[in-house]
Amino acid sequence: MEKGTHRILLYYKYVTIEDPETFAAEHLKSCKEIGLKGRILVGTEGINGTCSGTVEQTDAYMNMLQSDDRFKDIVFKIDEADGHAFKKMHVRAREEIVNMSLEDDVNPNELTGKYLSPEEFFKQMQEEDTVVIDARNDYEFDVGHFRGAIRPDIANFRDLPQWIRDNKEQFEGKKVLTYCTGGIRCEKFSGWLVREGFEDVGQLHGGIVTYGKDPVVKGELWDGQCYVFDERLVVPVNQVEHVIVGRDHFDGEPCERYVNCANPICNAQIICSEENEHLYMRSCTDECRVHPRNRYFIEHDMTVAEYDERMEAIEKHRNETHVS
Ligand SMILES: [Zn+2]
Repeated sequence: MEKGTHRILLYYKYVTIEDPETFAAEHLKSCKEIGLKGRILVGTEGINGTCSGTVEQTDAYMNMLQSDDRFKDIVFKIDEADGHAFKKMHVRAREEIVNMSLEDDVNPNELTGKYLSPEEFFKQMQEEDTVVIDARNDYEFDVGHFRGAIRPDIANFRDLPQWIRDNKEQFEGKKVLTYCTGGIRCEKFSGWLVREGFEDVGQLHGGIVTYGKDPVVKGELWDGQCYVFDERLVVPVNQVEHVIVGRDHFDGEPCERYVNCANPICNAQIICSEENEHLYMRSCTDECRVHPRNRYFIEHDMTVAEYDERMEAIEKHRNETHVS
């Protein structure tokens, strides 16, 4: 298939949806009729989605959504693709469209940080007394981030407020800038920062994906790639230079390739080369490697002898690379 036959959409809108359950059921039906695939979350606070389809299908979907008054000004981030980026179509009603699990939730329509255009963000991130906090999860940061940004040590967005409180002294008295993939997490997070007492808080409007397409900044000061929640896993951002920051989980070599751990219970996202994926049986730890439902053994129909042979090779590779 040629590039450009399909599109991948990313979008959100914080707006009141009275009955998310009913909305989700009807929306799923419409999406299936159109032939779209993807994942959409709806809640009383709004909609958050990413989907794929042909040019015609995505046009039909965007028209459908924008014909609803609540979503008439919704912004779609559009990537060209050569096929679908999802296998199925899901629309789910959720308590929150991004899970921050605050006791006292933030409504970004009432309280949020200053919206910064890519050009403003580019300029301000280089100013004195400014800290840039990545509002994403650790595994997203690890394959790419703004140069000099702070990496919160969290695997879930809902853990971010506590992490900020525990590390508050790093940010006190400074201008705080935040960013995330498409902007939806920062809307809430920057609002929360303002409520926590941070006085000067800015957020990258439209997120990393918008920054990477901006004709002026051209993705500059971004290192690595941007993790995305579809089958592509990563997309390029910096159009000027490409610095690889991802490191192979097994030997620490520069790498930007993601796989899911073969232990279905773990399913962790790990960065590794194709070679190491096979050597280590796509398993992030020894524990995952011996899991009875390990998908790698099943896919490769491995015998015990083959497994033992592989374990010996792993031992040898570990001794050579000094990485556990
Ligand atoms: Zn694992």
